[in-house]
Amino acid sequence: MALIVQKYGGSSVGDADKIKHVARRVIATQRAGNQVVVVVSAMGDTTDELVDLANSVSSRPEASAREMDMLLTSGERISMALLSLAINDQGGVARSFTGSQAGIITNEVHGNARIADVTPVRVKAALDAGEIAIVAGFQGFSRASQDITTLGRGGSDTTAVALAAGLKADVCEIYSDVDGVYTADPRVVPSAQKLESIDIESMLELAASGAKILYIRAVEFARRHGVDIRVRSTFSDDPGTIVYAKKPGENMEESVVSGVAADKSQAKVTVIGIPDVPGKAAEIFTLVAKAGANIDMIVQNVPTGSDVTEHVSDISFTLPKGDLASVVEALEVAKATIGFRDIEADDQIGKLSVVGAGMRSHSGVSATLFEALAKAGINIEMISTSEIRISVVTSLDEVDEATRAVHTAFGLDGESEAVVYAGTGR
Ligand code: ASP
Ligand code: MG
Repeated sequence: MALIVQKYGGSSVGDADKIKHVARRVIATQRAGNQVVVVVSAMGDTTDELVDLANSVSSRPEASAREMDMLLTSGERISMALLSLAINDQGGVARSFTGSQAGIITNEVHGNARIADVTPVRVKAALDAGEIAIVAGFQGFSRASQDITTLGRGGSDTTAVALAAGLKADVCEIYSDVDGVYTADPRVVPSAQKLESIDIESMLELAASGAKILYIRAVEFARRHGVDIRVRSTFSDDPGTIVYAKKPGENMEESVVSGVAADKSQAKVTVIGIPDVPGKAAEIFTLVAKAGANIDMIVQNVPTGSDVTEHVSDISFTLPKGDLASVVEALEVAKATIGFRDIEADDQIGKLSVVGAGMRSHSGVSATLFEALAKAGINIEMISTSEIRISVVTSLDEVDEATRAVHTAFGLDGESEAVVYAGTGR
């Protein structure tokens, strides 16, 4: 008998009919001889609607982080109870649990808590009694504060992976409205193909590079605890994509390039004319860190050669668009102390990344990438690499075209057009 954790996203439980459909799938999974734990997200856009409601009664709801968590966790409680009702109505036996009842123990940080421990005693007891356990995603309980917490937007994926780890489940299935992990976003690249499998390191890089199919924290958790994830659609029988955290079969060859991701949420800051002396980068990035920005790429240019008279450098870095204004402001204030000449801010950039575990042992990947961009006439503004990823920054209006060109250059185009259900992947 296998133990399966299934997570259904908001679009999968968006209305009564969809909940009844999920109930049928869950019962069928149990009747096929498995123990089943189901993690649910809030119905459709419920979480956003609750945030809107909070904004309509308070000018600064984020200041009452505890109350926001009390409010937002109610979304998942609605879906867990409705799904349980539907399963019981269809002849199954289900019992629902909040995050704290399911033993999701977190630190005390409201709005973005981290899971510290998983003690799914009651979930196990339900399974042992032959029941289907339904767990509200996205939420936990802090022993320190004795309060309910949330795991950050999209946190139900993390709940599912954490329960799979805590229960030593055979697999964690993440259901949304797309068929699996694609070589690129099929809405941008119609010839994108669904991957049958992908290694978790590559999945982590893709998630970090803008692929929205899985939340990065859930993927991190899965990697750390060796949880295999299967990404599937609620609305088809396609087996989806298996994301291997445990050792895959010996004969699974690592792809040189598994996929191409684009991130349109970043902006770029260039600090110009920085004195070329030790300590300046530290001063700049201490300020950036204090502003709370999570920076990504960093490039420094120091002019060299006999014709250089002024010893200054330029530093460019990328950061989330939402952090741009506060970082520029913090740097402006320190302009005289740091001694730089100017700042340029650009929120019209796109970051394209190619990812593949096979890059470790293959040369020529960057040459292929740069050649494809050159042929398409696309200018590269920044470049950065990791062991299994190469990223470039282009202008925002060229990043889609760049994605298509690069997808083709790496031979990722499929024969047929990808199926797009106009889904959000959540
Ligand atoms: N309902 C929460 C959100 O929309 C959590 C989730 O969907 O995973 O962010
Ligand atoms: Mg949601």
